[in-house]
Amino acid sequence: MPSIRIPYTSPFPVPRVIPPSAQELPGAIAALTEFLTSAKTTGSKRGTVCLTGAGISVASGLNDYRGIAGAYIVNKSFRPIYYNEFLDGHAFRKRYWARSYVGWPGLRAKGPNSVHHLIKRLGELEIFRSVITQNVDSFHQIHPSLPTVELHGFLRSAICITCGTYHPRDEFQDQLSALNPAWADFVNQMIASGAISTEDPTIQKDRGLRTNPDGDIDIPGASYSTFRYPACPTCLRKPPTLPNGQQGRIDIDQDGAWLESSDAGILKPAVVMFGEGIKTEVKDAAEAAIDGADRVLVIGSSLATYSAWRLAKRAVDMGMPLGILNLGGTRGEEAFFERISGEGKERTSVRINLDAAEVLPPVVKAIESQRSGKN
Ligand SMILES: [Zn+2]
Repeated sequence: MPSIRIPYTSPFPVPRVIPPSAQELPGAIAALTEFLTSAKTTGSKRGTVCLTGAGISVASGLNDYRGIAGAYIVNKSFRPIYYNEFLDGHAFRKRYWARSYVGWPGLRAKGPNSVHHLIKRLGELEIFRSVITQNVDSFHQIHPSLPTVELHGFLRSAICITCGTYHPRDEFQDQLSALNPAWADFVNQMIASGAISTEDPTIQKDRGLRTNPDGDIDIPGASYSTFRYPACPTCLRKPPTLPNGQQGRIDIDQDGAWLESSDAGILKPAVVMFGEGIKTEVKDAAEAAIDGADRVLVIGSSLATYSAWRLAKRAVDMGMPLGILNLGGTRGEEAFFERISGEGKERTSVRINLDAAEVLPPVVKAIESQRSGKN
């Protein structure tokens, strides 16, 4: 069965705290250190798989749009685009790419924060053996030697729906600038005014900018109908064969913009949109990461997406210890912890309702000093 990305808008349970001493920072540090260092090395199962979500990118200036109560706190009227809308609608795509065009420079200017660096360090210490992330910001690229599955894809590329070729988002951005000079002027003004780079939503709102975590910005009153986007360069060079055996048709205007008379060569962001299936190889890689680990630590995720929740459930179903380090409730946590806690199982789960940026630095220090004491 394909894994489809669907939004989850129900309220989350009240976060648990396990063990009770993890209510305060020192107890949380001790509990997480023990959880991470007591992973077994038996057979092929080794170490911890780290599952991350939007919560760890907040400190990079990306909004965690669900917030701790699970509501859309940044922009209540924001509704993500669905895959079928993107696929079927030229107008939807114009709107999507216009907003994405304005949002990209701000996202591009942001980068990994201390939590990403600590995850990298835990990889070097061989505590983490792999990472599964729901984030599309590519910040986990700072640890290329720690294998990372990007469950929901990534914004750094556009992908052709017809031929599957990836194209760098930066080059695509330049093409959008060339095709939409008035928008390019607007974006340059916004960059100059600091509206795009600021993390202060009040300043952004003063300039009519509202952001959401997909790197997308709302411009109230702006018309998207004249926005132009390019066709896939690969399909343009060599018209593709469609699933029905016919040759795909790609029409462009005098500047190279995709025209509605085409039936191929549409570029989409290389993220898994809502309503879109996760690629089989990505789903398999994520499951293999879980199956090959001894335990799972969730950091900065409410597990709101089914695909991520399902991976945590998979681990619990296999009897693996589960840790959750997340500020705010996490989908299904009551059921998870009821099953793995209880008499004699105290050390098999950790639930910390604190900020990872606060808890992880002393945990990494503690593990480092344990290691140097042994050497
Ligand atoms: Zn193509």
